[in-house]
Amino acid sequence: MKQETVERRDLETLLDIQNLDIEIVMETENDGSVLSELMNFKTSEAKNDELCSIFNRLFLLRKKRQKIAMEMEGDFLNRYETLKRKKGLIIAVVPVENSVCQGCNNSIPKPKLFLMRKENSISTCPHCNRFIYVSE
Ligand SMILES: [Zn+2]
Repeated sequence: MKQETVERRDLETLLDIQNLDIEIVMETENDGSVLSELMNFKTSEAKNDELCSIFNRLFLLRKKRQKIAMEMEGDFLNRYETLKRKKGLIIAVVPVENSVCQGCNNSIPKPKLFLMRKENSISTCPHCNRFIYVSE
């Protein structure tokens, strides 16, 4: 049980990381088609500029993410990465609202919720394995 609980501070950091991950995915997906289009053409100066700005934005996002990740201790981040990779999730940290996991819409058992509230900790959803936290 102890292994499942993580400090609240780590949760904030992980949510920051998740937000950056979502930004990175959106940036990559939005510009994915633009990128391949740009690559296929003979690069003019304007296209080069556009490519550079996309790469720069991605580079900055990744750098920011790396910096935050370095501040985290323990294997919390590893578990987050593994969960994302194994399940193909973009959002792997979700709140519990009205006792329901907002990732899979299943109910979280009362004793688990009780413990999470009591320890102000985060846990994992028994149904979808996402990290869950009580938001109220
Ligand atoms: Zn769930």
